[in-house]
Amino acid sequence: MSGKLETASIKERLWHNMRQDLAQFVPETEGNQLLMCCACGRFLPLEFFDLEHLIPQRALRIDPAVVRSDPATPANVRSGNLLLCKKPLLYKGSKHYGNGCNSWKGRFYDGPIADLLSGGAQLSSPSRRVRDKHIIGALMLGYLAMVAKYGYVVTLMESGLILREQFFNPNRSHKRLGTRHQVVLAGQPFTKEGEKIWTNPFSFSFERGACFVTVRNFVIIVPVSRDPFAPIATHLRIVPSRFTFRPDFTTAFS
Ligand SMILES: [Zn+2]
Repeated sequence: MSGKLETASIKERLWHNMRQDLAQFVPETEGNQLLMCCACGRFLPLEFFDLEHLIPQRALRIDPAVVRSDPATPANVRSGNLLLCKKPLLYKGSKHYGNGCNSWKGRFYDGPIADLLSGGAQLSSPSRRVRDKHIIGALMLGYLAMVAKYGYVVTLMESGLILREQFFNPNRSHKRLGTRHQVVLAGQPFTKEGEKIWTNPFSFSFERGACFVTVRNFVIIVPVSRDPFAPIATHLRIVPSRFTFRPDFTTAFS
């Protein structure tokens, strides 16, 4: 399949799977052809979503040549995927960011994420600002990877709100985020073919209210306020208020 066709079919599959998952929590979505963006929380139609490569393109481009040319590990497989919105973010009536959450991630997080994937030297930078930028980038990728793996339960639980709020504050750690979540451990990048991470860039393990997300060669500890495997009340017509955005946030973007 050509790259474009392949991308279109991945997008379609994700759209279907993500909507099916979301309908467990918000049954209204079954009939309305909308999907919630797991970053901004807006419910939008298909044309406002784009395929998001979780491992940024700029990092995929410098993967070892032997891995890039392997038909078993094309970019879409090495990256891990999710849908993020591309509808302009309007903040209190003025244009906040023109191309939605998909480009917001590109603008603020893909650079720091690519740095970490190439060895994470920036984590020992004397500049706190530089370190924080990389840690927040790692945390946001950890969050999105968890949504890709476990679905909207990650978004809708209480910790999901903290992470969604963090998404729009790339420079400072959320005040409700403990120090445990402000650390990244990075190792040297993988360089050999045949490694598991080329087909499966993320792995997850749960421990004491957190998920240790391993992204290829680095680890970030993402908060989780509930076990994503625990049964969830799905009979409710609307999402309990503790699972929704704070009202001032939902009205901030339109
Ligand atoms: Zn969005």
